[in-house]
Amino acid sequence: MNDTEDLTLPLVMNHSEDVEEIKPQGRPIVDINYVFNTIKSISHPFGCTFKNFIFTHEVRNGCISSFYFKCNFCNQKDVIHSEEPANTFNTNTAMVTSTVNTGQG
Ligand SMILES: [Zn+2]
Repeated sequence: MNDTEDLTLPLVMNHSEDVEEIKPQGRPIVDINYVFNTIKSISHPFGCTFKNFIFTHEVRNGCISSFYFKCNFCNQKDVIHSEEPANTFNTNTAMVTSTVNTGQG
């Protein structure tokens, strides 16, 4: 071994190894147009794509879900909601309204 071998840099960056990918569970109700537009709007500094996203966890608020991801390349965290969070007539309201109107609640 000579001195130049000691100074060489690895050609592959170390990817984040500390994030454990989990599989999402269930069949949530989603606004698919909103979900697709959210995915399209996510931008990372190194041009990472959705395949770099590691699903870390889901937070449920009634029938509304928020999916949390961490990029395995740049470590940026992103959240994809199942529908627009600012929407006042959301899935939870629709579920309650339909249950009351059909005489079930
Ligand atoms: Zn990234």
